[in-house]
Amino acid sequence: MDEFSAENPVNETSSRYARLIPLPKTDPNYEKVSSLFRKGWKHPAKQPPQLCAIFKIVSPGSALQPFLDYKSIVSKASSWNAPSELDSEVLLFHGTNRACLLGENLRNVVLCNLSECYLCTIIRESYAIEKCGSKHGFTRFGTGIYTSACSSKADDYVCNKSQDAIMRVLLVNRVVVGRPKRMLRNAVHLKAPPYGFHSVIGVPGADLNYEETVVYSNDAIRPSYLVAYDSSVSALEERRRRRVALLRLFTTPLAS
Ligand SMILES: [Zn+2]
Repeated sequence: MDEFSAENPVNETSSRYARLIPLPKTDPNYEKVSSLFRKGWKHPAKQPPQLCAIFKIVSPGSALQPFLDYKSIVSKASSWNAPSELDSEVLLFHGTNRACLLGENLRNVVLCNLSECYLCTIIRESYAIEKCGSKHGFTRFGTGIYTSACSSKADDYVCNKSQDAIMRVLLVNRVVVGRPKRMLRNAVHLKAPPYGFHSVIGVPGADLNYEETVVYSNDAIRPSYLVAYDSSVSALEERRRRRVALLRLFTTPLAS
């Protein structure tokens, strides 16, 4: 049974509605995820934040099955074409809007039903390519699902909609990269990976400052961990952004 399946006896939740399980610091996965988070924090201007908690995300087995099937197909194809790239599943970060206080403390483990809470929607339904780019408009490598090994880059997309939020949270996802095509230049019209590849990795250099990974199938990704952290710099920046947005609201002339 899959490690993240709600039906797996190792995943005992605090209530039947809970989808997050706090990981103790002694759990080997805590060390694995915290190490990825620390090493992925690369922006020199952003002070490394303090990691506060890591939660495992559990999902119904039926929701995980299409991902596992996809992974199995890609693993076979990858091992046939490129035996060196057998490690087809990697953990990558994704930042998004949070309207509730999920993950704010160890007791906040039940998803909300707010439509503007992309975080809970992703945990409940996983990612949907149809919603790709709806938040930011620009999609460098076309219509796909974007993640990054760079936690400080994913942090750029974190947005707390609740005034009561203190923490910032990032999703850590299992991503089937299979055989990735490494690209230096933008390719905004892609709707699928280039022929013979399963994903695109944007390589820093020409058009990009920090790595990003794009998959083009909803079955290529599932959220697996939630990282909660406190970044005083980011929190200050968020307050500044809110102030600017509020000022704009009051200074924008009404349409005549
Ligand atoms: Zn929520």
